[in-house]
Amino acid sequence: MNISMSNHQNGYLSTPALLCGMLIVGTFGTIIGADYFESSVNAYFFPKAEYEEYMELIKKINPTIYARMKKGEAQIGIPLLKGARNISGTVHTSEATRGYPTIYIKSLKNYAEQDKINLLTTPIDDYRDKEIVPAITKQEQKLVMDTIKFLAPDLYRAIVEIDFTGRHHVKRDFDFSGASVIASELDGLPIMLVDPDETKLPLKEFRFSIAHELGHYVLQHSGVMQHATEFSAIHPVLAQQGKSEEFTPGKKVSGQLPFAESFHFAYTRVQEYEADRFAVMELGIPIDDAIASAQSELQEVGEHELENPHKETFKETHPLWKARIEQLESLRREVELNKAQSKLIDWRALAAEYMQEYSKKTKVIQ
Ligand SMILES: [Zn+2]
Repeated sequence: MNISMSNHQNGYLSTPALLCGMLIVGTFGTIIGADYFESSVNAYFFPKAEYEEYMELIKKINPTIYARMKKGEAQIGIPLLKGARNISGTVHTSEATRGYPTIYIKSLKNYAEQDKINLLTTPIDDYRDKEIVPAITKQEQKLVMDTIKFLAPDLYRAIVEIDFTGRHHVKRDFDFSGASVIASELDGLPIMLVDPDETKLPLKEFRFSIAHELGHYVLQHSGVMQHATEFSAIHPVLAQQGKSEEFTPGKKVSGQLPFAESFHFAYTRVQEYEADRFAVMELGIPIDDAIASAQSELQEVGEHELENPHKETFKETHPLWKARIEQLESLRREVELNKAQSKLIDWRALAAEYMQEYSKKTKVIQ
């Protein structure tokens, strides 16, 4: 049974529109399902008076942002300022707000006026850089589906069999730039997430990007399973070896590095190389296309402007593009030797495996 929060907690902005992107409240007030971000920060609607007080402060601090938020709220009927118990302040965009960014802050009830203003300033500054993310279009969905058809016809067939247009397997990415992939909780097949710029890439670069994401899916990399614990040894072999206490966030090891975080980043960087390699070796992306793609990303992120590039990557989930290009170059000979040896990928079996993993997990997020 779904219980909408619209009636009691959200009555001060009453538009039926908010029934989509519904939140479900569990017995103890925990938010279940809906938006994963919202459950991870423990989001809730402020009581009317509190909401109005903060909005007045926002108006004082930055009337332009206030006006933008008010305009958005009038459009969608959902407050664009919400409470969050697990963070001090941030801005997040989701499907539930139809692409409008929302400010999330901790309750400021016990603070003095000046402190309230100070605490609101950071999220307001963040808000300035956030644009409304347009909903995904049918053309974008078709482009992604056509690309999947080109790269992996078997996967394409498995998707269209249950989702004729692919609209449930190609969605807008509100959290990350570029493309990403998750396994559907309904059928285990990949769901491709793309940001609005991604689909504007030259076709060859776009193909590499989708092939790379499919690599993450096939290789069962971290982040493909939805709602997985962030810092965990997701690789089956590592999961057997590592005891869970070693992956406690913030736990220091010799050298004073937080173990779980450092390990996690190092591991995801390896996964990026693996996904690049997969795109070339298994899905037949020409190395020169992959390199061209990496070159333009390198320009885009201004990698050459970094003063200490390797140090700066240490806490990143992704390796430097320069290093990724070096790996791609090194694959040339391997591609020659392995031609016509590409393994058949059993997409349906992979989907079944993901579904089995999901069935092991409890559905309630505490
Ligand atoms: Zn990747």
